Amino acid sequence: MEYRRLGNSGLQLTELSLGSWITFGSQIDDSTSGRLLDMAYDAGINFFDNAEVYAHGASEEVMGRLLAQRDWPRDTWCVSSKVFFGAGGQMPTQRGLNRKHVVEACHDALKRLRVDYLDLFFCHRPDKQTPMEETVWTMHQLIQQGKILYWGTSEWSAAEIMDAHRIAERHHLIGPVMEQPQYNMFVRRKVEVEYADVYRTVGLGTTIWSPLASGILTGKYNKEVGSDVRLKREELSWISKRLLTDQHLSKVASLEALAGDIGTSMTQLALAWCLKNPHVSTVLLGASKPEQLAENLRAPEAVQLLTPDVMQRIEDILDNAPAHPEY
Ligand code: NDP
Repeated sequence: MEYRRLGNSGLQLTELSLGSWITFGSQIDDSTSGRLLDMAYDAGINFFDNAEVYAHGASEEVMGRLLAQRDWPRDTWCVSSKVFFGAGGQMPTQRGLNRKHVVEACHDALKRLRVDYLDLFFCHRPDKQTPMEETVWTMHQLIQQGKILYWGTSEWSAAEIMDAHRIAERHHLIGPVMEQPQYNMFVRRKVEVEYADVYRTVGLGTTIWSPLASGILTGKYNKEVGSDVRLKREELSWISKRLLTDQHLSKVASLEALAGDIGTSMTQLALAWCLKNPHVSTVLLGASKPEQLAENLRAPEAVQLLTPDVMQRIEDILDNAPAHPEY
């Protein structure tokens, strides 16, 4: 497993990492979660992703319990949490990026994950109700208190990230080093275009989510699927409506044929395509079954198959390259 630097920071994360959204504390039982965690760690993965909102805190509780049961030295793995959506409470003090909620969310995540510090702490979305200065100061103070090591953002615009940097610079505070954006063959604009100046100026690591677009990029929705798959879950129908379109399924069919031509699987092609982007620090894997994770862990082997010619063939099928602004 190769390591990549998280933006301009000194932290090196493995190119693949494991996330727990929908799965831990919800879709899968704890023994399967443990199995996935073990497989990931044994394959060399050093980063496990979590958030206060995942299963209303239960995802962090499960991961914390499982991590505590293992004898893995704390300096061999990193764990994250994210603050914004809250862990179920709907009061204004129970969500957002105000100082009160950020500090309390951090304390709660430390307890649930059973760790002394969070390696990465993300602002899960921008918060229009809280002055940016308040959030930047709070993150800096949590770092100074030793409760978090690196802070970052998720689904912020480039302008918002740069605002946070300007405030941090003005007050000699530690600014955000990483962003967690969606990135996959169907969602490209932020990572490929919008953040281009941020990579170049202040540096930005990316821990990208939904690399398989919730599973559609495995090719399984082009075939008969059982009822136990993500895009058939009632509460996720809003995602299925957006993703399970004829256009997407037809592109996946062509990509799967291309994957066969070059001797790999659709899943590995989609993950390797994300890995091929040098601005991706780590690809966050999601899996509900050990055999899925086993397949996904082999994705780095497919990167060498992505020659310029193959990349062009993929581009021709996708036909969705985001346009760069003209200067
Ligand atoms: P993916 O797009 O890779 O989707 C993962 C899901 O696809 C699995 O749970 C499984 O669902 C299916 N799948 C995965 N591999 C295979 C396979 N080999 N064969 C068949 N099906 C497969 O990633 P996620 O959307 O889960 O995102 C990864 C992580 O990113 C999350 O766990 C979370 O940590 C983070 N994230 C962050 C967000 C943010 O706002 N910051 C938002 C979303 C995710 P099933 O078996 O149920 O069909």
